Amino acid sequence: MTFSQVPKKWDGEADVIVVGGGNAGIPAAITAHDKGAEVIVLETSTGMASSLAMIAGGTPFAGTDIQKEQGVEDSADELCEEAVKISGGSPELWRAIADRQLEVYYWLKSIGAKPEILQLAPGHKVRRSIRFEGHGNGLCQVLRKAAEKEKIDIRHKHHAQKLIVDSETGRVIGITAKHDNKALNFRARKAVVLTTGGFCQNYELVKEYGPAYADLVPTAPPTHQGDGLKMALAIGAATEGIGLAVCPSLPVCAETGHPLSSTGFGGIAVNRHGQRWANEATADMNAYTMRYKEIIMQDPTGLHFSIYDEGGKQADPYKTKPREKIYSADTVEGLEKILGITAGGLKKTIDEYNSDIDKYGYDRKFGRKLWGMAHPGEPPHKLDTPPYYGVRCKVCLTSMKGGLKINPKNQVINQFGDVIPGLYAAGEVAGGLMGIPSHYYTGTMTVQCFTQGRIAGDIAADEVSS
Ligand SMILES: Cc1cc2nc3c(=O)[nH]c(=O)nc-3n(C[C@H](O)[C@H](O)[C@H](O)COP(=O)(O)OP(=O)(O)OC[C@H]3O[C@@H](n4cnc5c(N)ncnc54)[C@H](O)[C@@H]3O)c2cc1C
Repeated sequence: MTFSQVPKKWDGEADVIVVGGGNAGIPAAITAHDKGAEVIVLETSTGMASSLAMIAGGTPFAGTDIQKEQGVEDSADELCEEAVKISGGSPELWRAIADRQLEVYYWLKSIGAKPEILQLAPGHKVRRSIRFEGHGNGLCQVLRKAAEKEKIDIRHKHHAQKLIVDSETGRVIGITAKHDNKALNFRARKAVVLTTGGFCQNYELVKEYGPAYADLVPTAPPTHQGDGLKMALAIGAATEGIGLAVCPSLPVCAETGHPLSSTGFGGIAVNRHGQRWANEATADMNAYTMRYKEIIMQDPTGLHFSIYDEGGKQADPYKTKPREKIYSADTVEGLEKILGITAGGLKKTIDEYNSDIDKYGYDRKFGRKLWGMAHPGEPPHKLDTPPYYGVRCKVCLTSMKGGLKINPKNQVINQFGDVIPGLYAAGEVAGGLMGIPSHYYTGTMTVQCFTQGRIAGDIAADEVSS
């Protein structure tokens, strides 16, 4: 374990230094600022390189006004109970999130986030997943504008590298960041809050902690290098669930790497032989994650094809403009040829699928009874309106789940089980919310980040100045 030397001269100082200005960092900074703390945010990018901009699903909140308006009964207790059961994560950490999330929802609304659609996310018993106006990008803009309005001091192009620890007390008292090729030392009078995101863009770290995911396409921002994790490990921090990932995870376009945005078109997924291998619209969490696991077992990159028809595209309530590379043909056989799917395989699959829906109203092969998230509760849709569309997909690695061990106050814990004074972690850099491989309680990373950011900002601001 290496302790940075306390510098003779500081290049900047604040009560709270937040490292990373994203999904967890901006809420942490604003919250600490609102409590009267002087805050500096160190951000390595020129803007906001947050995974939040890329999210596919909504953000779950329990007990919201939009649920009440739509007659959905829900509570923090139900969210907590379900989360612990499905994820196998720490009951104390989930409790802390459950207790604060509703306040976070109304806080987001107060700074301009506009809830748009209430969805049922896989694994959740009730509709609580909220898609906000502008989706992930919209939420990033809301956070950015709120930070601007509150005049939060965000130092862009400041790449944090090393925590500074008082070797006598063991307290984190600052951080070194590189800016314009110079190493600058920032003193944190109260605390440093790490919110640097995950490490799925760091091949070496993924290989070390989650070797099964090493061949998947990483889709997080390039700055998800595990810097916060590495800095805290260097001063003796412990980890929790470090090899776990939100994976097998979303499909991305094999050619462009864009997350699939056409998943709401009611299509099916097939392997290179044109065969389906699972229920594409399952609400069962195990089945949902197993689906991607199975395709990775057929091909380490998870190569498969997403297939839909013009009818499904036209029925999309969001009028999504897909960014993936899409192939199309007037016949299913034509599409097979273009995509390189075994001749006749896709035709047979679609004929069987359509015939089941005609006769029984659902697909008997894998028990698919639902269209999918875009049309909650509706039966599956027949693929019979040309043109037919196909996207070559791979399975991606969106985010790592395990990370630094924290307590419910978001304080980082060391390898002896003690709090590292002056150090907090929030968001993807922190672990503990997932305890069983592949058992991700879907869509909960964003609520984790917003909420833990607010908790950490709150408590860090209350620390006594060192
Ligand atoms: C394609 C995709 C789809 C997803 N879909 C969903 C979804 O549907 N639902 C869901 O809940 N979650 C989803 N996630 C995960 C979720 O978006 C992230 O886990 C979450 O946004 C991470 O927030 P964060 O605050 O931890 O990190 P971020 O918001 O990414 O912020 C980290 C910040 O730290 C900065 N940083 C990094 N290193 C340094 C350094 N050394 N010095 C200074 N700054 C640094 C980065 O530049 C960045 O701005 C998805 C992720 C991806 C990639």
